[in-house]
Amino acid sequence: MNTLPRFKPHAASAGSPRYASRFFAVAALLLLALAGCGGESGGDASADQAGGGKVQITTTTNFITDTVRQIGGDHVEVTGLMGAGVDPHLYKASAGDVKSLRDADVIFYGGLQLEGKMADLLDKLEETQTTVPVTTDLPREKLLDPPQGVAEQYDPHIWFDVENWKTVSRTIAATLREKDPENAADYDRNLDRYLGELDKLDAYVQKRIAEIPRDRRVLVTSHDAFEYFGRAYDIDVEAIQGISTAAEATTTDVRRVAKTLQDRNVKAVFVESSVPRQTIEAVLAAADRLGHKARIGGELYADAAGNEGTPEGTYVGMVRANADKIAGALK
Ligand SMILES: [Zn+2]
Repeated sequence: MNTLPRFKPHAASAGSPRYASRFFAVAALLLLALAGCGGESGGDASADQAGGGKVQITTTTNFITDTVRQIGGDHVEVTGLMGAGVDPHLYKASAGDVKSLRDADVIFYGGLQLEGKMADLLDKLEETQTTVPVTTDLPREKLLDPPQGVAEQYDPHIWFDVENWKTVSRTIAATLREKDPENAADYDRNLDRYLGELDKLDAYVQKRIAEIPRDRRVLVTSHDAFEYFGRAYDIDVEAIQGISTAAEATTTDVRRVAKTLQDRNVKAVFVESSVPRQTIEAVLAAADRLGHKARIGGELYADAAGNEGTPEGTYVGMVRANADKIAGALK
């Protein structure tokens, strides 16, 4: 059993409007689970019973996948459900994903409603598996309220403050130590090395953003994924969509952001690898009608890292690439 304290960030109350859909989702999940596994619980099998003696782990976003591999090293086998360019707010688990989740010794996911369409499934899996929202040990004062004040929900994009990712890394290591105590020393060693890399990354991002003159530090993106980045590295943030991509952008949003471009004389805006670029193009067109010229400054990794096997396919590489693009376009 896992003894770490847990947020229940996506627990819906019985009175919530989500309750009915939640009921059907859970019923559907039970059917899938019964069909797939004959009712047998695979999740609590000890690490050495699982394939090749490795701890079997299933993760959601690809930068969580990368971090678990960095800390787990040779002792873990990680199946990531979401690849490059995949939007976790909208992602729905396939039947194959459900099997992978049920077969895992440990499930790591973002939590704080990041995987909005998988929340019911992850709640259900918690009854039979070790499920760990990687944000679980972040203290309340590190969490940001969503700008539009959605009740009882925090902004899930905590990874753009590298300090937060150090806490996440410690949570992952603590979980692995508990699940596989025999290899605890290796997990500790990997964690120490990785925390050192994160310290260097944090200093690098500070340095790059500080190169931009303060009055030009305005980061405009498709959806509101960079509030933690803004707070940590002293750059103002403006987005067209809110903290989830599930709600569509309105013409009011487009006009508001176009006005910001004009008022603050912003020359470059950014698209995101996991969000279609139409809304950003609409903002540029609206700014143009106000007589203000701006351009696309590049594509940022927001809710997904780049392709596996490339430098940007890792957490460190994705944050570094973002800092380079932002500094390059705005300074
Ligand atoms: Zn997002």
